[in-house]
This record gives sequence, C-alpha cells and structure tokens, in this order.
Amino acid sequence: MNEENCVNFISVVVPVYNEEACLEELIARCVESCENTGKKFEIILVDDGSSDRSTAIMATAVKKHSDAVVSCILNRNYGQHNAIMAGFSLVRGDLIITIDADLQNPPEEIPNLVSAAEAGNDVVGTVRQQRRDTLFRRFASKIINKITQQATGVHMKDYGCMLRAYRRNIVDAMLQCNERSTFIPVLANGFARNSCEIPVAHNERVAGNSKYSVWKLINLQFNLLTCMTTFPLRMLSLIGLLVSVTGILLGALIIVMRFAYGAAWAADGVFTLFAVLFFIAGFQLIGMGLLGEYIGRIYYDVRARPRYFIETINGRRPESKNREK
Ligand code: UDP
Ligand code: MG
Repeated sequence: MNEENCVNFISVVVPVYNEEACLEELIARCVESCENTGKKFEIILVDDGSSDRSTAIMATAVKKHSDAVVSCILNRNYGQHNAIMAGFSLVRGDLIITIDADLQNPPEEIPNLVSAAEAGNDVVGTVRQQRRDTLFRRFASKIINKITQQATGVHMKDYGCMLRAYRRNIVDAMLQCNERSTFIPVLANGFARNSCEIPVAHNERVAGNSKYSVWKLINLQFNLLTCMTTFPLRMLSLIGLLVSVTGILLGALIIVMRFAYGAAWAADGVFTLFAVLFFIAGFQLIGMGLLGEYIGRIYYDVRARPRYFIETINGRRPESKNREK
C-alpha cells in the first residue's frame, strides 16, 4: 500500500428515516466494525425527519459513544440523498463511507471498503451479491444501471447500492455542487480518478418496510437521469424528427392510395390517420413530460433553497459544527 493512500480517520454517514427497529443494532455493529479497522472513526447519523423513536435512539447512542457518534437532525424529510449530503457537510474523516440504516448491507463490510480505498481508489462502489429485493426492483435497477453506464461512461455494475466509500476530496467536490436533485453515486463518479467495485453481501430488510414509495422511486430515477445528462432531450428531438418524417411519408402514401383506389379507400383510411395522430400526440406528451422534469428541476435550482436544514447537531462541540468548505 502506498503511504499517501493510508486512511487514518473514517467517517460513516447513515441516513435514518423511521428506522427505530434496526437502528440500535446498526449503531452497535458499525461501532464494532469500525473498531476492528483500528483507525479513528466517527459515525454521523442523519435523521431525515423521522416521526418514530429513531431520534431518541440516536440521542442515546450519542450519550453512549460520545467520542464516536454524532447525530444531525433535519427538520423534515428531505430524502435519502439530501440527508447524506447533510452528513457530508459534517464529516471530518479522510474516507467517508455511506451505509443504509436498514442493515441490508452488513456493516461488517466496512473494513473491506477501507482496504479497497487504501489500494488507491478514491471511489469504492459495491455490488450486491444475491440481492434480496423484489423482482420488480431488481429488474428496474438492471435497466437503470445500463442507462447510467452508457451516459456516464463509468462502468459500475450496481449504482443502487449505497454502501460506498469516498475519499474526502470527492466529498468536498460533491458539496460544491449546487444542484438540488442529486444522485450521489453518479455524482461521485464524475470526480473520481480511480474507482472500483467490490462484492458485498445483501440481506433482507431486518425490519420495517422500504422507505421508498413508488413515487419516491420514480422521482429518484428522474433525478438520476437528469443529474447526469441532457442526452434524453436530444433523443427527444431525434425521435421527434423521425416521427414527423414517418407522418409525412404516411400522409403521402394516403394521398397516393386515395388517387389510386378512390374515395372509399380514403374513408376507410380515416383510422390510419387516427393512428398516426395518436402516435404523434402521444409522443408529444411524453416529450413534454420529460421537458417538464428538467424544467421542474431547473426551477428548484433557480430558487436555490438549501437542500436541507440542520435543526440540531448532538455529539459535537458547536465550534466544529460546520467545517469550512
Ligand atoms: N431514507 C432516508 N430518507 C428517505 C428514505 C429513506 O433517509 O426519505 C433512508 C432509510 O432510512 C435507509 C436508506 O435511506 O437508511 C435506504 O432506504 P430503504 O432501505 O427504505 O431503501 P431501499 O433499500 O428500499 O432502496
Ligand atoms: Mg433498504
């Protein structure tokens, strides 16, 4: 291992949204796993507007591990990726690890991530082995990973797994990004020089349900798409062109047929016309929807509201509340 790649201080960032059933176990296992690395560490728990006992559990953990656990309470639910960003703004370590609170990815993998980073990678991704999610989720992920690979040019197999490690400079670069709709793994890859993926175990959710409703998932996928590329907009123009050319050709065909076979044929051809019309109208609507997605996000960015608001931080003295960027 190269001397300069040595990790001295690990920051683990955990977004927490109504995870009372898993949280205690998660904290205990994270602390143990970090202790096993023999390095300095901190665990930053970001409460993303939980309404259950999560906040209380976090307060207890801060008392119990006053040297290692920091809790950061957001005033409401901002979503997983924004919560992680809030956590990023507090990290002090030189390697930052993100992990979900639901124990789907075992914290015991943390030392493996650290070794992969020490081998000279500034972004360490993970591939879930025998992924324990619904068939629909797995299928959707597959398609999305393919598109992401194409658009970003970074060939990672699994963009959905949030057990990941980033060097401090990558996290600093991400914090400088002002866009509101972030998808962290994709954003990070944009700044990485060397990245790798390691296999990690994947379990069923220990308790509770997925915190992603279908709408939240759809929103996340659009975030992913719009945060990495405007290529779909260009596709829109290309497909639009194709559709109109087809429309013109079909129109010409109908005129020719009308002259060749008389008016009766043209009357029957009304349905062809309808078909063409629906095709074009449908396409226009899809196009407008997609445009709307981009414009909506531009609107959010123009308003430039903070992407999260930290209500309180426990477990850290006020002077080090926000590190300088
Ligand atoms: N999460 C969050 N805010 C949200 C939704 C989720 O902080 O609005 C957290 C959640 O507590 C968990 C992680 O993000 O730690 C992943 O959520 P979940 O396990 O529900 O997602 P899935 O595994 O179904 O993708
Ligand atoms: Mg999960």
